[in-house]
Amino acid sequence: MIPWTIVPYPDELWYSVCARWSARLGFSSVKAACRVLYGQPSTIPAVSVALHLDRIVANLPPGHTLDVDRIIDGHTLLPLYSPFLPPSRVHSLRMLMRGDDASTMHMQLGLSKRTIPAPEDLRYCPICVVEDRERYGEAYWHRLHQVPGLFLCPLHASTLMSSNISRMKIGRSKGFVTAETALLAPMLRSVTAPIAYFDLHMRLAKDVEWLFRYGASANDSQFFRSRYLALLIEHGLARPHGVLRLDAFLKVFTERFPPEFLAAVGCALHAQPKRTWPVRLAQKTEHGHHPMRHLLFMQLLDCSAEQFFAMPEPVGPFGPGPWPCLNPACADYRRPVISAPEKMTWRRGGEAATVVFSCACGFAYRRVGPDRGGERRFTMFGIVRSGPLWDAMLETLWHDTSVNLAAVAGRLNLSIDSTNYHAARLRLPFPCPGSRSTVSAGVLEARGMRPRGRSQINPIMRQRHRRAWSEAMTADASAGTAMLRKREPTAYNWLRKYDSVWFAEHSPHAQGQSPRRPGIDYAARDLELASLVADAAQELRDREPPKRITRHAISAILGRAELLSPPRLAQLPHTRAALTVAEESLVDVAVRRVWFATKRFHREGLVPTRPQLERAAQCYRPSQRALIEAHTAIDIALASFNAPGKIRQGNSISSS
Ligand SMILES: [Zn+2]
Ligand SMILES: [Zn+2]
Repeated sequence: MIPWTIVPYPDELWYSVCARWSARLGFSSVKAACRVLYGQPSTIPAVSVALHLDRIVANLPPGHTLDVDRIIDGHTLLPLYSPFLPPSRVHSLRMLMRGDDASTMHMQLGLSKRTIPAPEDLRYCPICVVEDRERYGEAYWHRLHQVPGLFLCPLHASTLMSSNISRMKIGRSKGFVTAETALLAPMLRSVTAPIAYFDLHMRLAKDVEWLFRYGASANDSQFFRSRYLALLIEHGLARPHGVLRLDAFLKVFTERFPPEFLAAVGCALHAQPKRTWPVRLAQKTEHGHHPMRHLLFMQLLDCSAEQFFAMPEPVGPFGPGPWPCLNPACADYRRPVISAPEKMTWRRGGEAATVVFSCACGFAYRRVGPDRGGERRFTMFGIVRSGPLWDAMLETLWHDTSVNLAAVAGRLNLSIDSTNYHAARLRLPFPCPGSRSTVSAGVLEARGMRPRGRSQINPIMRQRHRRAWSEAMTADASAGTAMLRKREPTAYNWLRKYDSVWFAEHSPHAQGQSPRRPGIDYAARDLELASLVADAAQELRDREPPKRITRHAISAILGRAELLSPPRLAQLPHTRAALTVAEESLVDVAVRRVWFATKRFHREGLVPTRPQLERAAQCYRPSQRALIEAHTAIDIALASFNAPGKIRQGNSISSS
């Protein structure tokens, strides 16, 4: 049984408690005290941690108020380290303090790397000494004052003082020394006086004090990774997809923390910039960094330890999970049942992201982010996999002769084109059996089959597009939809997308102004589209100055998004072939620009130099300079100024 008469003070180091106990009992030697306390005289008293706690607590007299966890949490430095260590490591450290073998303790704390050397001597705050004497009748060693890298008492903003009790001597000869004994010695000095960068030191001290006072549980590296990333992005120091803006980050870091300050707190930047500790902490957040580094990192991101550990788990570009299933045939339609994205890819240097969400019902959809509003959760940018439930629903609606195509599309939250596409995929009969039905969205709604929400549609836009479409129809009563679409592409696209019911009822076909086609003939549609592509390509080719003819440009002219969709094009072989013929390579357009410029020089009667011609033809960029064909064109074009009429290339010249 240990004769125990001591009550630990707030924030008192366990070493200090033992020292006061040893002094109270008047032990003649360290060994004698250790034999009684630890049961073995060879144990060296530890300053940062506690040892043999199970044995000590088991041997205390009845009625004592100590328990192992209270000693560890209230009187050792472990609460400073544990929030930055994985739970398993913290558990094993606590077990080591309970048991008798503490040989791996320093390694497990990450102290063996000596990233921040511990202060040589035990330290104290002179104002704390005065206050402790008033309150308790004696001074004691505070654990807060022994933290490596700390120079201020956060309670009094006073500089910490070094005693003449070195940690080395504690182990070798002195054993337990109380603060009162140390304070009797004449050789007391300030740790660093005066303190430069007071504010930076003070914030560190306050963060450490908070960790000791309130504690934080152990965390794995992902905890830090996600929060650091969110803060870095918020501060513009990382891109949204998590890539560090290295130069900006290093600039901000070195401006905030001067080298002298970092050296003083033991966090100097030794390695080359890309491998230095703040960059490693920002990019990997692996374990093994000293708590002081984490606290500095938080300080850089304008976050105190208290704010940091209270941060909720940051949300990604698609808001917090779980996410809704958007399959109208699913029992969980619009309910948050998808716990994690199936796949997410970043685009445009991390400014945009595409995600695939898949539900257990077999339905998977694609969405583009980041989200800017809550309702975006219920929009999709395309179906990735429809699944059996969805397919069955389309088939049922398709065969329902009382429902028209627009209503089917509305029910499935799809455009009419997409609905047709999926119907073709399922080999359903064309045209939609109910396509002449007048049952529209309102009727569906009455049946409890909710159509696509129209609340966000701008009524002014609707009015404008409806008027434009109606006027086009009135102006040319014989024109079919394809012709009207060419004349009013914007109104056509808008109405078909947002006002499909009205549009279906106000198309030439619906009003009987053109003979009704027997059904959608995909082969005929393919041929028609192929010819439209050729027309559009010609239109682009006629434009001056020449612009490259691309699939996107043709699609924009025709207002046909399917030209950009490989699966849709797979069903339109002639259109695909027409696109391949029409599309221009970089070389093609470069050559066209050369002849366009040449023609203008000829028209103005000027003879350009090679750089002048290159500039006029926009061939000055290195990528285009490298194009041999363009060079050849320039050679020939330049020759044309010396011997006009002999040039065969580019009939535009001979005609000018
Ligand atoms: Zn103090
Ligand atoms: Zn579902």
